[in-house]
Amino acid sequence: MNNNFAKAREKMVKTQLIPRGIKDQRVIEAMQKVPRHQFVPQELVHEAYNDYPLSIGHNQTISQPYIVAFMTEALDLKGDEKVLEIGTGSGYQTAILAELCKQVYTVERIKELLENAKKRLDKMGYNNIMFKAFDGTLGWDEYKPYDAIIVTAGAPNIPYPLVEQLKEGGRLVIPIGDRFMQNLIKVTKKGKTIEQKSLGGCRFVDLIGVYGWKDKHP
Ligand code: SAH
Repeated sequence: MNNNFAKAREKMVKTQLIPRGIKDQRVIEAMQKVPRHQFVPQELVHEAYNDYPLSIGHNQTISQPYIVAFMTEALDLKGDEKVLEIGTGSGYQTAILAELCKQVYTVERIKELLENAKKRLDKMGYNNIMFKAFDGTLGWDEYKPYDAIIVTAGAPNIPYPLVEQLKEGGRLVIPIGDRFMQNLIKVTKKGKTIEQKSLGGCRFVDLIGVYGWKDKHP
């Protein structure tokens, strides 16, 4: 069984990530290593390595593998960084980050998702992750500044606390747009200004909070 999953994972890397341009060897290795099937609901285990997002309950999703790899690569992680993640969800992206940096701080607004992710990641032996149930549009002030921040839900605008909590030269990757389509934006902090680059279109669930969408879908 585990052998089959390892094969599915290898196929995912070879057919979904590398041909689409993922180059960072460390990202490729992390995607090859982390058992994605352990982050999806039992009834979807056989679809865990397919090329699309999956439902994780609470109207939320675990992102498509390629998107996880693409966003992670854009953070330019070398191994010694402090990274803030907004939108823990299943904890899959959290595990990928934990493989690639020194310390991960992850924030999720739905307590039950956070607790399940924490249990899962603890069981897998990750000891460089801190968890918080909170509105991540406010960031996590206590441990700032961060070398990199990743937001895995779509926002109408860039929440300013996240820019404020970024280190000089730090990178923020966040989907910005309306509730149906967003652009993946990479922000780099340069003194008092920011540099912004669009990485392309994407579609995420809503980032809900003080500096995000005000409420759920009607
Ligand atoms: N990276 C996750 C994707 C989860 S979907 C994974 O790989 O599974 C996006 C998540 O963002 C959802 O779990 C949602 O509850 C969470 N979210 C939305 N708004 C948030 C906010 N303001 N603060 C923290 N988490 C938020």
